[in-house]
Parts: sequence; structure tokens; C-alpha cells
Amino acid sequence: MNARERPRAISLPVSTLSKLKALHRELDACRACPKMIRPVVHGCALDTDLLLVGQAPGPREGGFGRPFAWTAGKTMFRWFGEALGTSEDEFRAKVYIAAVARCFPGKAPGGGDRRPDGEEIARCRTFLEREVAILRPRLVMPVGTLAIEQVLGRKVPLVEVVGVPLAGRYHGVPCDILCLPHPSGASTWHRVEPGRSLLAKALALVAAHPAVRAVFPGAAARRPRLNEKPLTRLSNVR
Ligand code: SF4
Repeated sequence: MNARERPRAISLPVSTLSKLKALHRELDACRACPKMIRPVVHGCALDTDLLLVGQAPGPREGGFGRPFAWTAGKTMFRWFGEALGTSEDEFRAKVYIAAVARCFPGKAPGGGDRRPDGEEIARCRTFLEREVAILRPRLVMPVGTLAIEQVLGRKVPLVEVVGVPLAGRYHGVPCDILCLPHPSGASTWHRVEPGRSLLAKALALVAAHPAVRAVFPGAAARRPRLNEKPLTRLSNVR
């Protein structure tokens, strides 16, 4: 058989799921941060328009092998349950859950979990960038101040962004952004005013988002009436 007769190799497109699974294998093997406590924790590989970005796993998540597996997660899934009419399992099956750092940072000297430092965030960002490039999410939901800072590219008070519909780019991908406070029991922000009302507004905006309503049929029915402002375009583009 000469070269002309030889059948051409067919290159099939690599699916989103395959790419994410390969990335998860790299994540699982990562040992780049000496102060971080393994195992690496990440959610399922999903082909979805919805991306949630948390801060970092706590001490329990590694044992369960999934993010938001302990008390903060219970609070967060209750929020989404009430806003979207969804269960934790359904949410996990439809929303890609990532984080600023994927290993437990350990305890801070003053108590509570240590925040990942700048070098750890930069190392782990390489995974997050690739996940965003693969998924190209329509809606990004950063949870907590550190994740919000990373997604927006600047420090910003929660009162200025929670409950405010934003549109911008995340790692170069155009998307809508809805910020949420951290559901940690150590935080009182979401339990007292104005945080409580802003959280309710943020969850209503999540429930009203077209990409959410496309996959959570209960979201539209539960959507509270809101005086919604139009999307605020972000000038800082990452
Ligand atoms: S935090 Fe991220 S970059 Fe650091 S060791 Fe864990 S997976 Fe690797």
C-alpha cells in the first residue's frame, strides 16, 4: 500500500470529560506545595456551564474525597436546596466544584484553617486556569472572600459584590459572575444584616440565571421577586 492509498488517521475531538479526567489525574499526583496537607480534593469531572470556586478543603474533606463535605458544605447545600429546589447530590452532579487550592492548608496559629499563601495560590491556579479553559463556563460562582478576590482579580468588600450581577472574563473566558459569602460556621457575615439580605439576593440571582434554570427545573419556580439591576460589567479583566 503506498502513501496515497493509506487510510488517513482520524483524529477524534477529545471530550471535555476526558480532558478533565486527565487534569484530575495530574491534580491527584501533585505535590508542589510543601506546607499543604494531602490528599488533593476535587469534585467530579463534569461537562457543565456552571463553575463554583471555593477556597480550599478543610481537615475533613480529604477523608470524604470531595469538596464541601463537612459543616460549611451542609450550609452551602442548604442554601442551594432552598434557592434551586435541588439536593446536594444533584448539585454535585450538575455544578463543577473547583477551589483556589485543592489541598488542606492546615490550621492557622490563631485557630481556624490557614488561608493558602500567594505561592500556593499561584501554583494551584495553573489547574484552575486549565479547568476554565476546558469548561468555558457561562456562570462562575466564587464562594468566600479569597475565591472572590481570585475571580475578580482584586480585593473587594463582600457588601459590594454579593447580590450584584457581574459580567466579566475569568482566565480569558467571558462569563457571568455571582459572588457568594463563605458558608463557614466561623463567619457571621451571612447571618446578620446586611449580609443575610444580600445572600438571599445572590441566591435569587443564581436561581434566575439562564444556565442554572436550564439544568435545575426547580430554580424557576422558587425564584423570589427581586428588583434586579442589570449586569454590571467588570473593567478588570483577567
Ligand atoms: S494546593 Fe494545588 S498546587 Fe499545591 S500541592 Fe495541592 S494540588 Fe498541588
